Amino acid sequence: MKNKESTKQIIIKGLATAPGIAVGSAYVFKPFAINLTELDSVAPSAEEECEQFKTARAKVLEQLKFASKQSLESYGDEFSDIFDSQIAFLKDTLLLEEISAKIYESNQSAAYAVTAVLSQKSNHFINLENRYFRERAFDIIDLKQKLLMALFGIKIDYHLTAPSIIISENLSPTDTVNFNRNLILGFLTDQGGKTSHSAILARGLKIPSVVNGKGLSKVIKNGDEIILDGFEGTIVINPEPETRGRYLELKENYGQRQAVLVAENVKEAVTKDNTKINLLANIEFAHELSEVTGYDADGIGLFRTEALFIENNSVPSEQEQFKIYKKIAKSLEKGFFVIRTIDLGGDKLLEGLTDAEESNPFLGWRAIRFCLDNPQIFKPQLRAILRASAHGNVRILLPMISSISEILQVKELLSETRHELQTKGFKIPSKVELGVMIETPSAAIMAPTIGKYVDFLSIGSNDLTQYTLAVDRTNSKVAHSYSSFDPAVIRLMHSATNAGIANNIPVSICGEFASVPSAVPLLLAMGLRSLSVTPHFIPRIKKIIRSVHIKSCIKLYDKIQTLHSASEIEHECDEFIQTHVPELSISKEDI
Ligand code: PEP
Ligand code: MG
Repeated sequence: MKNKESTKQIIIKGLATAPGIAVGSAYVFKPFAINLTELDSVAPSAEEECEQFKTARAKVLEQLKFASKQSLESYGDEFSDIFDSQIAFLKDTLLLEEISAKIYESNQSAAYAVTAVLSQKSNHFINLENRYFRERAFDIIDLKQKLLMALFGIKIDYHLTAPSIIISENLSPTDTVNFNRNLILGFLTDQGGKTSHSAILARGLKIPSVVNGKGLSKVIKNGDEIILDGFEGTIVINPEPETRGRYLELKENYGQRQAVLVAENVKEAVTKDNTKINLLANIEFAHELSEVTGYDADGIGLFRTEALFIENNSVPSEQEQFKIYKKIAKSLEKGFFVIRTIDLGGDKLLEGLTDAEESNPFLGWRAIRFCLDNPQIFKPQLRAILRASAHGNVRILLPMISSISEILQVKELLSETRHELQTKGFKIPSKVELGVMIETPSAAIMAPTIGKYVDFLSIGSNDLTQYTLAVDRTNSKVAHSYSSFDPAVIRLMHSATNAGIANNIPVSICGEFASVPSAVPLLLAMGLRSLSVTPHFIPRIKKIIRSVHIKSCIKLYDKIQTLHSASEIEHECDEFIQTHVPELSISKEDI
């Protein structure tokens, strides 16, 4: 950029969706956009328009299959689900009928009908509060664009001539795999979130990625120099030499540090005083299994099954669920596989099933409450899990338990389901362990009694924090009050841990707090010996475990018990990490 004004350094905060740091020049990718009104013209023949749509649909299906094949060749079957769901959506005969009907009833072109029908579908999702829905809307927008391009005979240019940071309003999985991987430095998109498919792909491909939500794709020009910080979500446009220097150093440090951590990851997760810690993985999709194995997790501590329901916006059949659970159970190389029954409701809504009108959704028809009221959804899931348990070390975990009676109701349903399956000739192991999430204050308080009814406990610090502090975990206006370092939350986590120990049953934590480096010493001091984290964080958490003595963690814990605020406790814990694991911290001051 030439004029002085436009070369001014601009720093903007975005949402970090894939870790890493990218420094390089921008390639502004503009797939294609068209206004519905521009297509508003009477079509000469509805029949011909329908035929044109069918041809375009066949072309797009070919493109998707090609992209899927390319992805398979380059990255294995890690991302196949993404393409499969777009292909299934497009192949759906109901969609074909809907678009054909639109052509006939509106008397307009195929392009008009495609835009009208698919925009209505994507708008519906994009306006929902739920992040999974919003992000699935981008897949529909992507298909709409592909169909329009096929109808107009337009081709997209994916040709990169130099290493670049791709800037776009949105990126589809197909776009992502069509670029030359070796020339992509990073992704910056206006739209998306941590669970959008491009973010999942970016994480899988280890490409730093940030979502800005501020329409930067319309501001940044080809060739502008950009820095993306996929840890903090910072975006720097036209950095000053000093900023560039700092980030290049940070990038190198991070690269070296990550390489060291990954190399060291082959070692066992034991503390300096030889206490073995189970490091488990949290996953939401079957394709993450490769990360579980790649990072050598001791098992899967949390499989959030609701993603299967929300991803396809429908209730998967017992057989569909069984196939997925079985695949994971069979492929898991070590440890056990904890399947959490659906946690729908709250911010995870399913059109037509959950109640989008609730005034307090997090206090409402969510998780186990929703399941117990909908046995026609819950029982097929239990059946699928029980059947899968014949193929591996499967455990069942119940979300959002707030009373003993809920556990008793599930136990009854489980024994009924087991009996029905056995009558039909299915072989089910004589014991499938049942555990509950400790994520409501009532469950934490009652944990000593709950422990008598179940086989294991798993602390859900994300919800435990929101319910203990009465702070909505999704509301940015009160985000400053949300901290799992709060003394009240810590006390509840500690008493739940004690309850597990006293009942002689395993207790673990699967909330995000277990992935926070400075929280780890506190968790160890409480007596937790099992942490379940996003696979990518395993090397980092293992490093902390290997760098501390339980004794010094307990000393830290004694000290923080005298403190009365989350910020003081967090500060104390940060200092502990800086002292005991100095090589680890990507310090905020570095940036
Ligand atoms: C939690 O609440 O800590 C948890 C792991 O469950 P989720 O984040 O899925 O609500
Ligand atoms: Mg939860």
